[in-house]
Amino acid sequence: MVIGVPTEIKNNENRVGITPGGVYELTKRGHTVYIQKDAGVNSGFVNQQYIDAGANILDTIEEVYAIAQMIVKVKEPIAPEYTLIKKDQIVFTYFHFASSEPLTKAMIASGATCIAYETVEEADRSLPLLTPMSEVAGRMSIQQGARYLEKPAKGRGVLLGGVPGVSPGKVLVLGAGVVGIQAAKMAAGLGAHVTILDISMKRLRYVNDIMPPHVVTEFSNEFNIRKHIKTHDLIIGGVLIPGAKAPKLITRDMLKEMRPGTVIVDVAVDQGGCVETSKPTTHQDPVFIIDDVVHYCVANMPGAVPYTSTVALTNVTLPYVLKLADKGWKTACAQDDVLKKGVNIVSGNVVYEEISEVFDIPY
Ligand code: NAD
Repeated sequence: MVIGVPTEIKNNENRVGITPGGVYELTKRGHTVYIQKDAGVNSGFVNQQYIDAGANILDTIEEVYAIAQMIVKVKEPIAPEYTLIKKDQIVFTYFHFASSEPLTKAMIASGATCIAYETVEEADRSLPLLTPMSEVAGRMSIQQGARYLEKPAKGRGVLLGGVPGVSPGKVLVLGAGVVGIQAAKMAAGLGAHVTILDISMKRLRYVNDIMPPHVVTEFSNEFNIRKHIKTHDLIIGGVLIPGAKAPKLITRDMLKEMRPGTVIVDVAVDQGGCVETSKPTTHQDPVFIIDDVVHYCVANMPGAVPYTSTVALTNVTLPYVLKLADKGWKTACAQDDVLKKGVNIVSGNVVYEEISEVFDIPY
């Protein structure tokens, strides 16, 4: 199969759809890979590394879309790419169709087959192509939180690990899912005192089994949240209710109960946030302050660490890229129920129920 990897053109997107290692695996199996010039540079991969792995470099995005049977990328195509996508071309990337009618209509019009990373789903309903980005964001949340706790950043002036003779900082983690566990692990590693809350006893039991004793679990309810926000220095929002907006666990009035300089990193901001006062921010301007509480609400946290994010993402996408390339999408999906869940549009026809419902499109 002929595979094309364009440079991401969405604002501030520095990841790339394939690494030189991925190119090596594809070309070893007899596939042909075309990469747009400098597509990997912002993730730390230069053209020569791709060439050495067997790829061909093309100068323009138009050439990549024109030659490829399958496009492998990271973000959903944006308007300038809509007309480059061809009938029956496979496009394997994040789409998030339900949040964009223009994108959905454009892909229907293109006649392409769209396989969405975010709906590739395991039997236990976990989303293997989203997990690595939650892992990155969860770990990053402590790094960012620690930074904004510093006084020049308007934080409380607390060092999370403390020093001999001084108590460590206290971190409250809301949600013991992928984000929450990675955050708790990083905070615990720094020596902070960690409290992690969830409504799932199964998750809390798991956390209790694997974490050191200075990570404490409690059930998530308003009483416990109100109690802990008064004493914790850094609060991480990592809750998710699949298919719904995040619940507002911290309301505006609660901010007054926190100490000045408390930092909230609301990772769940991409689903509306679990803090009433959250609103999405960018890496250029990541924080704002309300009632002396610092809010960090960057909606695409992994974008700040493109090397790590690209490698983490392509670790999980490559096995599916190989299947799609080796067998074609029909056979690959017929043989793999997990991948099959990713098929959203086939030759311009919506085949994913939620998308047809959201936009009232027949399927
Ligand atoms: P997950 O499904 O693994 O975990 C969510 C957890 O929240 C679950 O354990 C669930 O039981 C718990 N939960 C639900 N309601 C709760 C409540 N009322 N109190 C406490 N816990 C509750 O999800 P995840 O992969 O960890 O993702 C968490 C959020 O982070 C999602 O909204 C995701 O989109 C977001 N995210 C954001 C970024 C970013 O850059 N900002 C990056 C990756 C993920």
